[in-house]
Amino acid sequence: VIDHPSPDNLPSAARVNGDRLWSRLMDMAEIGATQAGGSNRQALSDDDQAGRELFLEWATSAGCHATTDKVGNLFVTRPGRSNDDPPVVLGSHLDTQPTGGRFDGVYGVLGALEVVESLNDRNIETPVPLQIAVWTNEEGSRFPVSMMGSAVWAGSLDLAEVLCLRDTEGISVGTELDRLGWVGEAPFGHPMAAYIELHIEQGPILEASSDPIGVVTGVQGLRWYTISFAGSPAHAGPTPMDVRQDPARALASALQSIYGVAADHGPWARATPAQFRSFPVSPNTVPAEISFSLDLRHPDSQTLDSMDRAVTAVVSEAARTHQCGSAITVDNYSAPVDFDAGLVSMIEAAANGCGFPNQRIVSGAGHDACYVATKAPTAMIFVPCENGLSHNEAESISALDAQRGADVLLGTALKVFDELA
Ligand SMILES: [Zn+2]
Repeated sequence: VIDHPSPDNLPSAARVNGDRLWSRLMDMAEIGATQAGGSNRQALSDDDQAGRELFLEWATSAGCHATTDKVGNLFVTRPGRSNDDPPVVLGSHLDTQPTGGRFDGVYGVLGALEVVESLNDRNIETPVPLQIAVWTNEEGSRFPVSMMGSAVWAGSLDLAEVLCLRDTEGISVGTELDRLGWVGEAPFGHPMAAYIELHIEQGPILEASSDPIGVVTGVQGLRWYTISFAGSPAHAGPTPMDVRQDPARALASALQSIYGVAADHGPWARATPAQFRSFPVSPNTVPAEISFSLDLRHPDSQTLDSMDRAVTAVVSEAARTHQCGSAITVDNYSAPVDFDAGLVSMIEAAANGCGFPNQRIVSGAGHDACYVATKAPTAMIFVPCENGLSHNEAESISALDAQRGADVLLGTALKVFDELA
C-alpha cells in the first residue's frame, strides 16, 4: 500500500482514467435516454432509481459501502485509515430535468467515482474516508423545490414539509421515498472534512476563454420580484396621448432604467425581466395593469442589496413620471455564497499542477454545494460546456475536458488528504 503520494511529487500519477469515466457517462445516459440525445431521470422516478442502482453496482465493485438518510440522500464511502474522522466528500446529483442533458450533476457523481477508482488503481490509502454524496432532487422539476436533499441535510428545509411536496399527479416525496426504499438512518448534517463538487459550467465563459478549468469562488445571490404598474383603462382611439395613465409607458421607462441598474453594477450583475402580463387582454384598450417578474443576481450581497434599492427607486420613479401606481413584491431571496478560500486555492493549485489553464469564476446557477457550504468547507470545479448549453438535451462536453475536470478533482482531494494526514 502506497501512503497517499502527493500529486506534486507524482504529477503523472495524479490522473484519472478518462476512457472509463466517459464510457460510464455514456452508460448512465442510456437510462431515461430521450429521442434528442438527452436524459430524463426526474427525481424519485423509476429511472432515477435505475440510475442509482447502476451507480451503486460500480461503487460496490470499487469497495464502497452505501447509506442513505431520511430524505434519500445517498452516501457511498471508501474507507480510510481512520474511519472515525470526518470524510472528504465529493458529489453532485443523478436526477435530471425532463428534457435534461447527459452531464448536469451526473458528471460530478461519476467524476467522484472516478477518483475512488483512481485511488484503488494505485492502492492509495487515505488518512480518512472518501465519500461520494448523491443528493436527492437537485433539479426541482418534478417536485418543486430545487436542491431539496442538500437543503434538508443542511437543516435549511424542514423534512416534514418536504415529505408532503407533491408532483403534478399528486404523488408525494414521502410516498416515493418509501416506495423506492430510499429512507435510511444516516444523520443529517454529518461532519465533512471538505466537500468538492465537480460540475459543468452551464454558461459560456470558460468556452469563450478556452480555459478547461473554472475554479469556482462562490455562487451568485438572487432576488425574484413581481412588479406591477396600475393605470386607467381607456379607449385606444378617442383618448389623447397626454391624458392617459398608461402602465405600458411606466413599464417602458422602468425597463430602460432596470437595464441601467445592471450596467451600473458591473460585469457580474444580472437583471432579467420576464413573464409580462397585461390586463385587460385587449388590443384597443389602454391597459389597466401590467405586471412582470424580475430576476436580479450578483455574487456580492452588498452589491445585490444596492441593486435592490436602485430597482425599487426606478420603479416608483417610472410610476410617478407616468401618473401610475406601482407595487413590488419579493418572491424569493437566496443569499450569495462564498466558497472556502483555502479549498479554492487548493483547486487552483491542483489545476496548475496538472498544467491546465484555469480561471476563477462565479457560478450563476444554484448547486447542492450552496447548502453544503453552510456546514462544511466547500468549493466547486467547473468544466466548459458546448455553447454554454445546459438544461437542454443537446448539453455537451468534450471527453478531454471531462477527464481534465476529474483530474483536478483527484488532485484536489489528494491535497486535502495530505493536509489531514
Ligand atoms: Zn446540476
